[in-house]
Amino acid sequence: MRFLVTAGPTREPIDPVRYISNRSSGKMGYAIADAALAGGHDVTLISGPVNLAPPINAKFVSVSTSDEMFDAAHRHADKCDACVLCAAVADYKPAEISLTKIKKRGDKFSLELIPTRDILNSLGQRHDRQFLLVGFAAETNEVEENAANKLHEKNCDIIIANDVSSRISGMESELNEVTILFRTGERQKISRAPKKIIARELVKIFENSATKMFDKKNVTISERS
Ligand code: C5P
Repeated sequence: MRFLVTAGPTREPIDPVRYISNRSSGKMGYAIADAALAGGHDVTLISGPVNLAPPINAKFVSVSTSDEMFDAAHRHADKCDACVLCAAVADYKPAEISLTKIKKRGDKFSLELIPTRDILNSLGQRHDRQFLLVGFAAETNEVEENAANKLHEKNCDIIIANDVSSRISGMESELNEVTILFRTGERQKISRAPKKIIARELVKIFENSATKMFDKKNVTISERS
């Protein structure tokens, strides 16, 4: 199978020296890319700025902003059987980027933010979609309920929900614990484990789901190549 994986944060520039970003380390996405490669799959990894070495044997696309990640994901999605959007894409970006460093002034400063384009949603709304679409939902409260809403709103096949309020697992940590929500309403939990172990389980689940999806459409994965 051919996998597209997005990983890491995005950086939304404010001026030449400042940006808005988040704490995503990219570890979960990189672990999924590694697990898919170990399973014999082709992998394209689109990554925001992280401190991790790109997996050998993956096609690696380095991006910085949400707009760059959006364009790269759309460029590669149709060549893939499963798109796993693990990146923590910024939800907002500055309405304008200052060409010069913004000077300190007064004691209050506000920045106008506008929504970024939602990559998962834009792929999910495509009626001609021929790939399994997987999203992630990092939540701090009502984790499964919020994730279920995302599954329907963004029209994906699977959402992986994880609670990022805990210090032990989730963002930046080596550990994670996830609940997998399927479009069919089925749910499956993977209890706390290293991200590499979770990634291996997830890749097996994606393989099964993609195979079922293509069986229903009466095509085999090799026919799609
Ligand atoms: O809505 P929320 O950001 O929590 O959704 C998380 C999921 O949506 C993740 O799979 C993330 O990669 C994706 N996403 C995206 N583009 C955005 C925001 C989120 O693809 N602009």
